[in-house]
Amino acid sequence: MVDRALQQRLDGLLLQDTKGWLARDPLRFPRRFGDPADQEIVGLLAAMLAYGRVELFAPVIEKILLLMAEKGGPTLFVDGFGSEEEEALRPVLYRWNRHPDFARLFRMMQRVRQDFGKIGAAFEPGPPKKMLGGGIQRLRARVALPMDQWSVGFRTWLPSPEDGSACKRWWLYLRWMVRQEAPDLGIWTHLDPSQLLTPVDTHVSRIGRLVGLTGRKDAGWRTAEEITASFAELCPRDPVRYDFALAHLGISEGCAGRFVAEICGSCPLQPVCREGTG
Ligand code: SF4
Repeated sequence: MVDRALQQRLDGLLLQDTKGWLARDPLRFPRRFGDPADQEIVGLLAAMLAYGRVELFAPVIEKILLLMAEKGGPTLFVDGFGSEEEEALRPVLYRWNRHPDFARLFRMMQRVRQDFGKIGAAFEPGPPKKMLGGGIQRLRARVALPMDQWSVGFRTWLPSPEDGSACKRWWLYLRWMVRQEAPDLGIWTHLDPSQLLTPVDTHVSRIGRLVGLTGRKDAGWRTAEEITASFAELCPRDPVRYDFALAHLGISEGCAGRFVAEICGSCPLQPVCREGTG
């Protein structure tokens, strides 16, 4: 049972000035575009690269957006993707993802758009595992290379919920596309925000434990379910409404998971956090 005092505190967190948070968030990339087709393409790219430090992956996304701009924008880039675009991606790399992974991702998006009209249409309404797992499976089926030949880097982009992975980057992408309220884009209106799971990263997992949203220590699928169930007690129609703010308490505000006077002193969650006082 979630304490109502926590809800008041989380609502207080939502009232914080989020401009600085957005400037550090990969959601800022799809938000630059007005056309939903561009938004879902750039959103998928940004979500796939949203691992590690934002200072490191943001320049890679910027580099690809420049290549897209040279071809008239994200949608024209994907729909016309061919050997010339693949060659232009050759210098692009991020950690274990190399240019063939990026080329494969854009060719997959191209196939999905040819078959479904838009990426979002590959995802069907349903309970979380079915909605996400079915969507990823339809995308996997449009990769022009057998799975046993995928690179390790590409494999991490298309996980299976059946493996216990929290699929954090996919729930992040779905949150951006499905939630109807800012800062999210809400362009996939055929899907129900109440069926979203929390994108659990280290920050959300740790802070979730500190304020009693979960008792679990891992950042896997079951923890995502547990945190979402706690949020759903507070807001069943939109259980991931607090995710952006909670994540940025760690990403932008520097929550260290333990009492640090200068950080905890101004934290809206201090009264309900078990590390909130020294
Ligand atoms: S009170 Fe401190 S430890 Fe607790 S959530 Fe806030 S910043 Fe993190």
